[in-house]
Amino acid sequence: MISGGIVESRFVAGFSLVDHHLQCDGVDLGAIAAVEGTPLYVYSAELLRARFHALDDAFGTYPHALHYALKANSNLAIGRLLHGLGSCADANSIWEIDVARRMGFRPDQIVFTGVGKSPEELERAVTLGLKAINVESAGELARIEALAVAHGQPARVAVRINPDIDAKSHPHISTGLKINKFGVPVDAARELFTTLSGRPYLKLVAVHVHIGSQVTSLEPLRGAAEFVAAIAVELRRMGMELEYVDVGGGLGISYDGSPVIEPRAYVEAIVDAVRPTGLPIVIEPGRSIVGPAGVLLGRVIDLKPRNAISDFAVLDAGMTELMRPALYGAFHRIEPLRASGAEPRHYELVGPVCESSDVVGRDRMLPPLAIGDVVAIRDAGAYGSAMASNYNRRPLPAEVMVDDGHWHVIRRRQSIDDMLALEFGGKGAPVR
Ligand code: PLP
Repeated sequence: MISGGIVESRFVAGFSLVDHHLQCDGVDLGAIAAVEGTPLYVYSAELLRARFHALDDAFGTYPHALHYALKANSNLAIGRLLHGLGSCADANSIWEIDVARRMGFRPDQIVFTGVGKSPEELERAVTLGLKAINVESAGELARIEALAVAHGQPARVAVRINPDIDAKSHPHISTGLKINKFGVPVDAARELFTTLSGRPYLKLVAVHVHIGSQVTSLEPLRGAAEFVAAIAVELRRMGMELEYVDVGGGLGISYDGSPVIEPRAYVEAIVDAVRPTGLPIVIEPGRSIVGPAGVLLGRVIDLKPRNAISDFAVLDAGMTELMRPALYGAFHRIEPLRASGAEPRHYELVGPVCESSDVVGRDRMLPPLAIGDVVAIRDAGAYGSAMASNYNRRPLPAEVMVDDGHWHVIRRRQSIDDMLALEFGGKGAPVR
């Protein structure tokens, strides 16, 4: 990690205005942007810790494991920090498993989800001996069994059941309805269970559900936990004892500042639902841990009139760095780094990418912006950097973590040479 500056100031965990300046864990974001440039992701180590502990502590003495969903943000430094706090991992591809291993997670601390796992991915997963492969279909289960037999190594599996529960989230991130591609319908799962006792190379360790992401009402989450608990009871009656139930991730965060489900209320609801089974609970939170702990800093690079009341503010950060607004119409708060008492103006904040959907913030009131001003796009820690792309040949931004009054570059900015390193410039790949 490359060390940056040290800035003395009053310490507040996370992002807050101190003396009219937006800070991260007590460090001035303007100072970081001045040194590291923009676009830039900045993460608060203290808020990451606080958000992990808020969920973990809420379980009290109830047996549980938090499997951080790497898909939300798999930067090595973030994963290592969470691993150090006692987190386990939820990986969605064999490459996320490799990253998890480099973060320090042991195979028995990793669950492997994913609606389409290739033969190569399944083979690695079986031979690694993961805590569980979360199985998405009868066919996948059969392929896992064949690999387990071939390697003489029984596989630990959890069946992901589609509970047909409406998460009431955005349709693109709802996964628990029959019409969604995820999981095994409950009747088909029951049929699978009846065959499992005669299959010595498959060890059923859990049942799994994940109904969606950015879920902001408690009832669907409680319903999903009740659902897996009921299946666990059914299985016990059939003489099949599970090791745990996995209720997935999905706890929503507040993107607009309005109240959302508190971690304590969420954990209370799932523990109440599962307690009658006595089984440990696995959760797979991603967004709720890392989302609010990151911002994306973007600089105003152009201003131009839009209509009689509004201007376009063109930022150097857009859909390539934060895809959520273009992909889901998602809302993120946007704030200048320096608070001002000036009369706000109406802006459409857009990115530099050659797409009309590259709008970061629609219809916003902000203090008058000038070219060169830096703004913070809040709650960009989850599904920001993880979904970034090189579209328009834009390099991936640097990532910075603030910890204990210092900032560290945890990923350097991509260079044009990095970007072109995989290409052969028209000469073609070497013949093999
Ligand atoms: N687990 C699974 C199976 C997922 O598909 C996802 C994301 O959609 C997660 C966990 C993490 O969800 P979230 O980031 O909303 O907590």
